[in-house]
This record gives sequence, C-alpha cells and structure tokens, in this order.
Amino acid sequence: MQEEKRASLSDLGSINSQQMQCLQKEFGIYQPIDLLHFFPYRYIDKTQFHKIKDLVNAPADAQIKGKVTDMKLVDMKRGKRLVAKLTDETGSMELVWFKGHQYFQRSIALNQQYVVFGRINWYKGRPNMPHPEMKMAQNHEAHKKESLEPVYSSTESFKRHGITNRKMIGWMKNALKTSNSAFIENLSNEILHHYKLMGKKEAIHQIHFPRSLEKLRFAQQRLKFEELFYMQLQFAHKHYSHKKRIKGYAFEEVGDHFHRFYQEVLAFDLTDAQKRVVREIRKDVKSRTQMNRLLQGDVGSGKTIVAFLAMLLARDNSFQSCLMAPTEILAQQHFATLKELAEKIKVNVQLLTGSTSKKARKSLHQELLSGEVDILIGTHAVLEDIVQFRNLGFVVIDEQHRFGVAQRAKLWKKNKLPPHILVMTATPIPRTLAMSVYGDLSVSVIDELPPGRKPVNTIHRYDASRLQVFNFLKQQIAEGRQVYIVYPLIEESDNFDYKDLMDGYESIEREFPKPDYQIAIVHGKMKPDDKAYEMQRFVEGKTQIMVATTVIEVGVNVPNASVMVIESSERFGLAQLHQLRGRVGRGAAKSYCILMSSLKLSKEAKERIKTMTETNDGFKIAEKDMELRGPGDMMGTQQSGLVNLKIADIQADQGILKHAKNAAFWVIQQDIDLQEAKHQMIRKAFDQLMKKQYFWNYIS
Ligand code: ADP
Ligand code: MG
Repeated sequence: MQEEKRASLSDLGSINSQQMQCLQKEFGIYQPIDLLHFFPYRYIDKTQFHKIKDLVNAPADAQIKGKVTDMKLVDMKRGKRLVAKLTDETGSMELVWFKGHQYFQRSIALNQQYVVFGRINWYKGRPNMPHPEMKMAQNHEAHKKESLEPVYSSTESFKRHGITNRKMIGWMKNALKTSNSAFIENLSNEILHHYKLMGKKEAIHQIHFPRSLEKLRFAQQRLKFEELFYMQLQFAHKHYSHKKRIKGYAFEEVGDHFHRFYQEVLAFDLTDAQKRVVREIRKDVKSRTQMNRLLQGDVGSGKTIVAFLAMLLARDNSFQSCLMAPTEILAQQHFATLKELAEKIKVNVQLLTGSTSKKARKSLHQELLSGEVDILIGTHAVLEDIVQFRNLGFVVIDEQHRFGVAQRAKLWKKNKLPPHILVMTATPIPRTLAMSVYGDLSVSVIDELPPGRKPVNTIHRYDASRLQVFNFLKQQIAEGRQVYIVYPLIEESDNFDYKDLMDGYESIEREFPKPDYQIAIVHGKMKPDDKAYEMQRFVEGKTQIMVATTVIEVGVNVPNASVMVIESSERFGLAQLHQLRGRVGRGAAKSYCILMSSLKLSKEAKERIKTMTETNDGFKIAEKDMELRGPGDMMGTQQSGLVNLKIADIQADQGILKHAKNAAFWVIQQDIDLQEAKHQMIRKAFDQLMKKQYFWNYIS
C-alpha cells in the first residue's frame, strides 16, 4: 500500500519490459511494493549441515560436507551422465549431472572437502543429488553469510523470460531499498500490542531475508494475521451491515398449520437437534431482518422435516414458500413426501421441473400468482423470471453447492423484500471453516441422527474379490433387501465412463439373471421420464438392484436398500463417497457400503478409502477432505476469496485465524464505519481491498 509516489518496476534495475509484463500478468505485480508482497514459499536452510547417513531425516534440500572420492561417465539409454561419489565420515552417496559433463569433470577436484547443496532424490532406498551446488569448503568458510535463502514460486512464463530465483532475490533486495518509506503500518497500535505482532516494515524484511528462524516465524505470524484479519474484517463488516440494513418479512405467528402438523401429523418425535434448529429459524424469521441460514446435517439427519416446519410457519403468516432441489429426481422425491404430509393439513404443494408440461406450467404460473399454491417444489426451473409468486416469503435450497451465486441472486427479486433463505447441505463444511468463511451467515447444525440408526458397515474390496461381493449381494437380496451399484461418471458426457457403466451393467445382468433378479439402471444420459420410471420401480421394490451413476448421490430415500457398492471408488472424492453411503442405513436392516477398487491406489485414494472405513461421521470426513485437498477446493470456498490467501492457510493457521477473527469483529463492533482516528490505517487498507476485490455476494 503505497503513498503518493508511484514507483515503477523499472527502478529495480536489470529488468526488461517483457519481464515486467510477465510479473504483471502472472501475479499482478505492478510496483516494487507489490513485488514485496510476493512472498517466498519456502527457504533453503544453509545454516545446517547433514550427515549422509541421516539424510532420511533431512529436509528436501540439504547441505552436506564431504569429499568427492570418485567420478565417472555412465552410459544410459539416452546419452551419458556424470556420476560422482561423495563421501563423508558416515557414508557415501552419488552426485549426478546430466549436462555439462566436461565442465564439471574438469572443475571438481578429487579428495578435497566440498560443501554440497541440493535436492535429495531417493532411488531404491539410496540418496542421490542431481546437479548440486558445490563450493570448496575453504571458500565456503570465507563467504559464510548465507543462511536462510528465499525461494519464490516460478511459472513456465517466468522461465521463458529468464526470471530465475537469483533474479527475484536481486529485485527483492532493490525493492526493499527503494520502498523503504512506502510501508505503511496497516494494523492499529492496539492490535499490534495486544497480539504481540511484528511491525509491517520489519515483517516484510524478515519474510524475504530472515535473520533467523525465529525472526522468520514472527514475520510469518504477523503477515498471516494481517491477511486473515482483513478477510475477517470483510465478514464482520458484512455481518453487521447486513444486520442493520436488510429488512425481511416478519413471521410473527406460530399458527394452525404448524400446530396441527406438529401435533396430529408428524409421526415421530423430533430429535433435540432438530428442535433446536426449528427454534433458531423461528427466532430469525420473526426478527424483521432477512434470514440467511445454512443448515448442516449429515445425510439422514432429518433436514427435510425441519424445512417443512419452517415452510408451515410461512404459511401461517400468509407467505408462500419454495423448495429447490439440485436434480429432478430429488425434487420429485421431496414432492412425493411433502405432498402427502401437506394434504393432511390442507396445504397446497406443487411441483415444477424441466419436464413439467407446457400446459401444466401455464396453470401453475397462474396459481402461484393468485396465491393458491402454498409451497412450490422444483429444480432450477423455479428460478426463471416467468415464475412469479403472489407473496414469496421463504426459500429452501437443498444441497446448495449445485447452485451458483448468480442463480441465488434471482430469488431476491421474487418479492418486494428478499425472502428468508435456508440453505441445506449434507456435505458439511468443517465447523472451523464454516465460521470463518460464512462470517455473514448464520449456521445451524443437526448433529444427531434420529434414534435407531445403525452406522453403515464400510468395507474395502479389491476388484479381484468381485465374486464374493456378488455372492454377498445375493444373500442380501434373498433376505428381501435391495442394493445399489454405483459407477463413476464424473462428467455425464464422458463416453469412456459411459462404456464402463454399460459394461458393468451387462456383467451384472449375466450374474443376476432374470427372472430371479430385476435390475434398474439410471444415468445422466437417459430422458427424465425414463429415469423417473426406473427410479420409481426401485422405490416400489419392483427391482432389487439399482445400477446407477452419481445421479443418485443426493437425497434419494429407499429405506429397504441395505447395500451400496461403489465401483472404482478410488475415483470418487470423500464428500461424494459419504453422500453415496448415506443412501443406505435408512431402514431397520443392517447396512453395508462396499468400496471396490483396483490394486493400484494413489496415496490419497488410500487415505480416502481408509477414512471411509473408519468413520461414519460427516464432520470428520469433511475435516479429512479439507486436509487432503486444501480449503481451496472445498465447496463454497471458491467464491469466498479464501483461495486468494497468499500466506495464511485456513487449516494450518487456525490459531492465528481465531485471533484475527476476534480482532476484526472487535474493531467492527466498536466502530462499524471505521471512523475513529485509531482505525484510520485500517480503513485505508480496507477501502482499497473493497475496491480491488470482486465481492462475494450474500449467499442467497
Ligand atoms: P436428510 O437430512 O438427509 O435430508 P431426511 O430429511 O431425508 O434426511 O430424513 C431421512 C429420514 O429420516 C426420512 O425418512 C425422515 O422421515 C426420517 N426422520 C427425520 N427426522 C426423524 C426423527 N426425528 N425421528 C425419526 N425419523 C426421522
Ligand atoms: Mg435431504
């Protein structure tokens, strides 16, 4: 953040215009000060020496002192390589050159002490080092200044334009010199003091050229704090201005429909968690500000009934509701369940999807406008502008990750004030993340399953055991159960996957012949009518085996199904596996999830499968998922600016995050518009940030 004088990258010396353009294009670096905010992603530690015997415990790059005791050219399939033997008092290893043989052969002296530095490779349990940096030990002693050397990320374009790490280091040094006065502290004294943070100027120096590991840690801490603080400040600001500004409809009454349903129709007791969430929603919707609530609950935790109760509240206050599902099948299933319940209390529920006929659509549009329809259930189709309500007051979005931000924004326009919004998801965002990402959202959690549910027994089997698995399926079917067999079809248009699915289907038909067995198949390439037909036959128990792709992933409810077989399970993500598993274990019978895989598994695939066999807890799985993939890939985080974090890591830096969050909310609570003198620097930085950033809309 620079004042008055706008320095230019050309001040850095020995930089050409292509290189400047490249810095701009690749990382948005326009000025020396931007460059200084391009932090090293690791450091080469030349403060330590490692013994050859102990290299297993050394970092990826290591420094070793030893003698070159032998050197020879070795023939390979393609060309030659130069191999030298480096020996210290604990053992020996190979140094390898693929290029410049003559030069190195000439310049490296045998039986002299060298300081060798480079990346350690492992081959058959033995270390080697390709193209090491080498210095005679006596020269090294003379220049022993280097300690922690910064390493900057590089790109293809960097390489093409000759932007090496050496170059970057040179530019950084110059940038530090020329921008000395340009660092403006952007945290208040109060905060610096309270959280014992390093000043901005020193932190920038130390992050590039740390004088010690300890200084480096302090610098990192300060810069991470700063980054997270400003992220949280946005949330805090949104949160409080949202509270202030966005008016919503007040549902003041709990009326007849709600009471009658609760007392006369509802066949089971709500769990405590469900009751708590109903209370949370009730409190929001009567507050006259618009509700934006995320409801997280594991598969089968009973989110639908909670949503239905909330929609009855709307009805009691003369508002219409709308429930959106991500797929046609799900919408139909919600419709079937809720229509039956609603009829008993004379609440009018209708369905609108892509396959609703023109004629039906027309009259439905009318009935929505006249207010005859109380609850509309549907897919994306309900978002179309032509779908208008008389008085829409409440919207439920099931499995939110399938809806884009822009689509949600359309909902806001369906009434004068924006309707209350409840977003439901069974793919839990880790609690820690939810709190920090959705700072502006209220989060409810159903952390309890209805009584009597048994955890699904999850087993991993290699493809070679398929016959045993089929036999097991036969036993289950003989006991009257139904089974799912799911194939990966990540992209519904992927012909390769499609062939897998059809091959699989044929082999299952051979293994489970008619008339003893009836098989249904559902995949994305089928017409909606055909899909619905096949689905319906399975729901009614007319088919015992459902061969499907992930179209059945969310929501589908067939309590009699007791086995979920997932083919090529190594190709699924954790969230998907957990969703699929959630399709079974919904009835009284003991249920199984069988993860099939090939023998060859990546390390991550192994971890995923292991996690699945170890736990049924959706939150634990979400945490693991985040650990394996990083928060950048998690649902919902894409739009939140999280992926733009430069130095902080939401998962690894939770401690700092907590402090930064407290600090940000504390500042905003005192002074929402950042008017006070002591907040001036924060305000300046914040304004710049708001200008620069694409702002993630409210979730709705
Ligand atoms: P999800 O949270 O995955 O959407 P559903 O709302 O589909 O779960 O509920 C799963 C099943 O559990 C449904 O058949 C529902 O009727 C039933 N259910 C919901 N709440 C309870 C409860 N408190 N006691 C017993 N069964 C319940
Ligand atoms: Mg559901």
